[in-house]
Amino acid sequence: MPLYRCSLAGCLLAGLRGPSGTCMACSRRFCVEHITASSLHDCPTYESDPRAVDDMAEKNLQAELHELAQRLNLVELARVASSLRNGQGCTIHELDDQYLRTLPRGGMNIHLDIVFNDGVEWICRIRRRSASIQDLPLDAQDAVVLSEAATLLFLANQTSVPVPRVFKVVPPSTRDNLVGVGYLLMEKVAGKPMDWSSLNALSKRKVLEQLADIFHSIYEHPFPLIGCLHINNHPLAAFTSASAFSISHLVAEGALSQKEDGSTGFLGPFTSTCEYLKASVASNTLCVSSRESQTSSISHYLALEKSFNRLASRYNFSATKPENFYLRHMDDKGDHILLDDVYNIVAIIDWEWAQTLPEPLAFSSPLFLVDVAAYYEGQDGLSEDERLFVTVLEEKGHATLAKCVRNGRLAHRLAHLLDTDSDSGDIQIHWESYNRLIS
Ligand SMILES: [Zn+2]
Ligand SMILES: [Zn+2]
Repeated sequence: MPLYRCSLAGCLLAGLRGPSGTCMACSRRFCVEHITASSLHDCPTYESDPRAVDDMAEKNLQAELHELAQRLNLVELARVASSLRNGQGCTIHELDDQYLRTLPRGGMNIHLDIVFNDGVEWICRIRRRSASIQDLPLDAQDAVVLSEAATLLFLANQTSVPVPRVFKVVPPSTRDNLVGVGYLLMEKVAGKPMDWSSLNALSKRKVLEQLADIFHSIYEHPFPLIGCLHINNHPLAAFTSASAFSISHLVAEGALSQKEDGSTGFLGPFTSTCEYLKASVASNTLCVSSRESQTSSISHYLALEKSFNRLASRYNFSATKPENFYLRHMDDKGDHILLDDVYNIVAIIDWEWAQTLPEPLAFSSPLFLVDVAAYYEGQDGLSEDERLFVTVLEEKGHATLAKCVRNGRLAHRLAHLLDTDSDSGDIQIHWESYNRLIS
């Protein structure tokens, strides 16, 4: 069964997945027929009236935030936070009209500051109800929040990757949750989101030298399965031991389906790359079957599946030999890295879709190093920034990781071919490049 339904009354088609399935103006999800404006769905579009779209989006956001403010019990949230710090008092700003207007826009989460009387600051991270997760089933929302918490706890306790400390996680479906919504309590880290293009050559090198160490730390912690991190047991104190973590199913939207009984079907975990790629392609073929240009997309997926033998021999993947898998941040556009004023990486944030992957896919360069314009024109060569990262990794003696970055373009193309939200025009470009690189 499809994961989503079209929100138009009477329409029985599946709602499209990802941001492209949600109307920018009314924030509702539609099928392939009704996502575009028509007499049945008559929202303004960015082409026809950008201001009207922005006005409607802002109105929806304010309605969403007011609804959240009504459900959220700030007194209880402050009591919970305080109890986790031996009764240290704290304050949380009241969610009045003016404050709600100043909350940062966009993204899938809302962050509330918790300021303790001794100056310590925490963040309460709450998943947004609207945007692309509007209709995500509750058990899937739980899985996303728990996987993010597990990933942060694992990285903080087992690796040298700098991440905010997590103090409490309450999944959205939790009963008797007096706070009123699911949430994650975590350390507030100083530092600003990185704007890679504004950095000079020296600062870029400084950041990449730290990133090389971070890649290496992740490389030192292999897992036997492909999937997302999962917490084995409570309470949080137990998370400091490696046995507290295991790899469970994938939580990304593209890997979800709905079962007959209404519960969510998850993909994975997988013991081999071959098994993972085959399952992903099968799932994608189902996802795109209600899309525009579905015929070409499906034929790409079938051809992609046929190419897996070549891919396996290129990368040395084997369906029978045990493989090692490594954690990858799945949204590495650059603003996930927080820097201080002298370009030290103080934290890497937003790990909510992180999953394990085989070596070549886990350690291809992060997206912010890719020359995106050239990439979307179908060029296969590495950018200057990617070449610098290769040099830095080699200087540090990480030859395996340097090789992954040097040969990373094929991994990028494969990732975009497996992304259910890739634009159909772009798929053609990824597909042509993928075929050149694998031949
Ligand atoms: Zn609309
Ligand atoms: Zn529809």
